[in-house]
Amino acid sequence: MKRDFASLQNKHFDLLVCGGGVYGAWTAYDAALRGLKVAIVEQGDWANATSSASSKLIHGGLRYLETYDFKLVSKSLKERKMLLQTAPHRVWPLRFGIPVYTYQRINRLQLKLGLVLYDFFAGDADPKMHHSYLNHKKFTEHFPLLNEHALKGGFTYADAQTDDARLVLELIAGAMQAGASCINYCKLIHFLETNGKVDGAIIRDQLTQTEQKISTKQIVFTTGQWLINETQNLDWCRLSKGIHLVMPAVLKDEALLLTAKSDGRVFFMIPWYGLTLLGTTDTDLKGNLEQVSIDDTDISYLLAAANDYLKTPWTKVDIIGCFVGVRVLRQNTQSVFPRSPSAISRDWELKSAPNGVHYAIGGKITSSRQDAARIVDTVCVQLGIHQPCATQDRLFPWAPRESFSEWSTSMQNQAVQLGIDAESARWLLHRHGIRTHEIYRKIEIDADLVQRIIPSLPFIYADLMHCASTEMAIHLDDLLRRRLPLLILTKLTENKLRQIAIRIASTMSWDDAKIYQEVERCRKQWITH
Ligand SMILES: Cc1cc2nc3c(=O)[nH]c(=O)nc-3n(C[C@H](O)[C@H](O)[C@H](O)COP(=O)(O)OP(=O)(O)OC[C@H]3O[C@@H](n4cnc5c(N)ncnc54)[C@H](O)[C@@H]3O)c2cc1C
Repeated sequence: MKRDFASLQNKHFDLLVCGGGVYGAWTAYDAALRGLKVAIVEQGDWANATSSASSKLIHGGLRYLETYDFKLVSKSLKERKMLLQTAPHRVWPLRFGIPVYTYQRINRLQLKLGLVLYDFFAGDADPKMHHSYLNHKKFTEHFPLLNEHALKGGFTYADAQTDDARLVLELIAGAMQAGASCINYCKLIHFLETNGKVDGAIIRDQLTQTEQKISTKQIVFTTGQWLINETQNLDWCRLSKGIHLVMPAVLKDEALLLTAKSDGRVFFMIPWYGLTLLGTTDTDLKGNLEQVSIDDTDISYLLAAANDYLKTPWTKVDIIGCFVGVRVLRQNTQSVFPRSPSAISRDWELKSAPNGVHYAIGGKITSSRQDAARIVDTVCVQLGIHQPCATQDRLFPWAPRESFSEWSTSMQNQAVQLGIDAESARWLLHRHGIRTHEIYRKIEIDADLVQRIIPSLPFIYADLMHCASTEMAIHLDDLLRRRLPLLILTKLTENKLRQIAIRIASTMSWDDAKIYQEVERCRKQWITH
């Protein structure tokens, strides 16, 4: 994956996709596979915004049953089923527990009904994906961290999990392979029209600050929260902030769905890369769109919600990292009563203008493939092209072509021979799929690369070097926040940042001054807070 800004020059595109989160990535990938001439531009790094700040769940959304959003649950569960098959390295099953306490808002019968419905919508024949009820003893064996006072037992049910930023990256790699021009650090400044039809846009290379005109027949804005800048139309959407805290490992390999006692909202504790994600909040976004921050109220809310369930409560000192994302919620103009952000549907909508400009509003990572297919369908109709969706049931670009379990067993055996520890090897396969072979080749040349970067986390130097050389990372934080999420999973010191920057310097063509700049950039953004 090489960034080539000059490749946009003197080309005429059918479709320009603005915004390189999960919606833009799926749109560019599908459109390129259907034979359209596509460019996608992203003002920062791929997935730098909400698509790397989600709960990382590929799920139907059990809680949406409470608001009778059956259509969304059913659609998302169908996508979940497909992604588990087409991307077994990227999307993997994750079981959740829901404890049943004597005092809770939703009782055992209501939960049972919800889970029966959830399994029905999932339509999965595999009993491993069905819900079950465990008595007090069994449930606490699964979740020994839970406060047992008034605990009757609990349900477990299946959903799925991913690494959101890497999901986007793999789709961008797929789009490039299919012929799309994919440029990060490239901002769309404004679009151009002739006789009421869009025919181009002015884009800016964010690395050199040079601007150029790009020619295109259609444009789609998959700009997430920045949609508001494009349309100045607040009637279309409402923005809500969601934060996650990264907490120490307390779960085995199962997650928890819990209800906050203060306001009855659902929140999660999710195992991820060996640690625990605690999230999320859901509050109306106030203030600057470009600098969404995490404040003390958000942190206190989540810690208090979790501590109501934990035998050993957490304090602020236990927080390892945090991240924030912004949901774009479709505004319901018919609703007379102002509703809380949590009560608004997560479903998605496309608004198309007669000039050939389209705006994607809202949605979920889980259903983004299907929504993107609708964007490309609409674009194809306007262009008079007849090509069906190309991503349905299609194996992911880095998915093994043979049986996933046979492939992973063979790859893990090779990892043992190379001296890679079992946990790092397991994550390597999730992170890189078939490209893990390239990482093994690096270790064959330099055995030292099997060392972990941080002893407590399953990321090895060979992984870092591979990401630095092949994954279009421009800055140090592109590598350490999204290619490998070290900046949120550990408290990196300035020294460690410098050591990593020096290690990758020759691959990134960085001299001493650039190393200094990159470390400073990371330090300012990630260490002072
Ligand atoms: C806290 C939280 C938890 C969530 N958890 C889940 C979950 O577990 N499962 C799930 O399915 N969904 C989840 N979601 C929803 C999901 O994360 C979002 O629906 C999805 O990431 C939105 O993707 P996007 O591509 O629309 O937006 P974004 O990821 O925000 O991407 C928009 C991109 O457009 C770029 N951009 C903006 N303006 C320009 C411009 N002028 N030129 C070039 N580029 C531009 C931005 O830099 C940005 O990268 C969650 C959301 C939040 C907030």
